[in-house]
Amino acid sequence: MSEAVTTSFDPIMATYSRFPVTIIKGKGSYVWDEDGDRYLDYTSGIATCNLGHVPDTVQAALHEQIDELWHCSNLFHIPKQIELATLLTQNSFADQVFFCNSGAEANEAAIKLARRFTHMTKNKNTGDIVTFTQSFHGRTLATLTATAQEKIQEGFAPLVPGFRYLPFNSMEALDAITAENTNAVLLELVQGEGGVIPADEKWVEALYQICQAEGILFMVDEIQTGLGRTGMLFAYQHYGIEPDIMTLAKGLGSGFPIGAVLAKGHISQAFSPGAHGSTFGGNPLASAAGVATIKTLLKSRVIEKGAENGHYLKTKLKALQQKYPDDIHEVRGKGLLFGLVTEQKASDIVYLALKRHVLILTAGPHVVRILPPLTTTKEEIDHFITILDSVFESL
Ligand SMILES: *Cc1c(COP(=O)(O)O)cnc(C)c1O
Repeated sequence: MSEAVTTSFDPIMATYSRFPVTIIKGKGSYVWDEDGDRYLDYTSGIATCNLGHVPDTVQAALHEQIDELWHCSNLFHIPKQIELATLLTQNSFADQVFFCNSGAEANEAAIKLARRFTHMTKNKNTGDIVTFTQSFHGRTLATLTATAQEKIQEGFAPLVPGFRYLPFNSMEALDAITAENTNAVLLELVQGEGGVIPADEKWVEALYQICQAEGILFMVDEIQTGLGRTGMLFAYQHYGIEPDIMTLAKGLGSGFPIGAVLAKGHISQAFSPGAHGSTFGGNPLASAAGVATIKTLLKSRVIEKGAENGHYLKTKLKALQQKYPDDIHEVRGKGLLFGLVTEQKASDIVYLALKRHVLILTAGPHVVRILPPLTTTKEEIDHFITILDSVFESL
């Protein structure tokens, strides 16, 4: 870990290895660097700009709000926050919402809510929160403990007690979950950072049945999968289940920072006044961005069109896999969240695409992650495939 010591005077701590590009402007599927060069952005700010960059509706809502009121403490009623919570509950399983500023904070709040609910209903803290291998739940101490990846935890011990890990998508592992040793499970229905790995339907069903039967809270982390990314408003809607608690962030504000915990009413009541809080969570600007984002997603078939684009892109990626079977081992994902398992280092592919002015990401050493905005077009997808083809051609 000591090689991280830097001798230059970069004023920013070295927590990111950055691409050699400086982005200063964005619109729709494109961003521009400081020289005015244009890039097709199929990262969407890591599943955040699901409506593309600077979408008109959210831009207008923010302009309107910026002239009225920027911030107001959560000790007062905030109309936009109520409107956003109403939109979220009307379009999901949930009855109530808590707002915060990021994904990690949302998971942190979900973990607190699960523990407090268990304390109140069972009069003690029975059992662990179970999470799964390759998961990613955030960088705070509790959420990096929930994240079952050594590289994320390295150097941060002692971790938070009360977490246990099981192998993702493993039927046999489910036997280890009982009412006595587990108070909640937390999972991504498509693991994002961990390699774009969708949860098997049968496995989710079995896990859900156990949780129902044993009175264990079923919590889904939809920070990356939510807000239309997988072809439905929320990924759980693909699986015919209803979680008890769900966390959101990334796509909720189209780039304005906001996170949320959604829960069923009998659970959310465990958060009484003073139990949890946030200075900025759901402030007027963040809530205005959230309201405009959800309203836009729900109208003009944005999510359906995103799903259609996903099908189209998947067909093209599969064709590319047939053309380069030694280089592309698998095409996986849901909606517009794709992983390409590659023979080469994923970062090499990403850099070759960057040179051709197309932005994509990695999700582990051999998975290229592709996250177009839902609003991308067939022409943009065709262009993207042409570029990706030339990348694999050049190897
Ligand atoms: C990004 C992400 C987080 C963490 O969100 P931050 O806003 O970076 O704290 C947690 N869970 C999942 C699934 C994510 O993709």
